[in-house]
Amino acid sequence: MPPQHAKPWPLVAIFSLMTQVRFLDWIFLVDKKLTQSIYLTVAKGGADNCNCSMCKNYVVARQNLFDLPLRNFFKNVGVEMNKEYEVCHMNKETNGLHLYSTWFDFAGQLLDGRNCKIQTKDGKSSIEYFDMNSNLSVAFLPSTKPADSFFDNVEEVVSINFLLTIPWTINEKEPV
Ligand SMILES: [Zn+2]
Repeated sequence: MPPQHAKPWPLVAIFSLMTQVRFLDWIFLVDKKLTQSIYLTVAKGGADNCNCSMCKNYVVARQNLFDLPLRNFFKNVGVEMNKEYEVCHMNKETNGLHLYSTWFDFAGQLLDGRNCKIQTKDGKSSIEYFDMNSNLSVAFLPSTKPADSFFDNVEEVVSINFLLTIPWTINEKEPV
């Protein structure tokens, strides 16, 4: 007898594809396969798609920006560190370094640990950052179908936002 058409997987099987990933005080339920498949559809990171000097400077720094624990975390959740959704140059700090904000996403949920999106009294929200070292802070923000993301079709998403400072290393006019 020929095989029957495959039935849709039961919900429990779908959830079993999710893995738990721990990072510092956070625990996430992660859909690594889905995250990897979405990053595969992305040709380049946001900084590579921009021609401004600030983004070029970020691309140079990017290779050495993330330490081993962070690289392992990216690997465990399926994020490609060269494919940030967005890079934003904020300003030049008094110490001469340049402050940037960068965004990544992965498919998953926050199981335990602080939601870094803080609702303020006036109905707006702000972001609370965790300092990883003197040049790098991170925030994790759970969301649903985030508009500003490669993951705008995914129901459960965790956004990663870094604030980081890097030197100006490229041979182009340094912003003040
Ligand atoms: Zn740019």
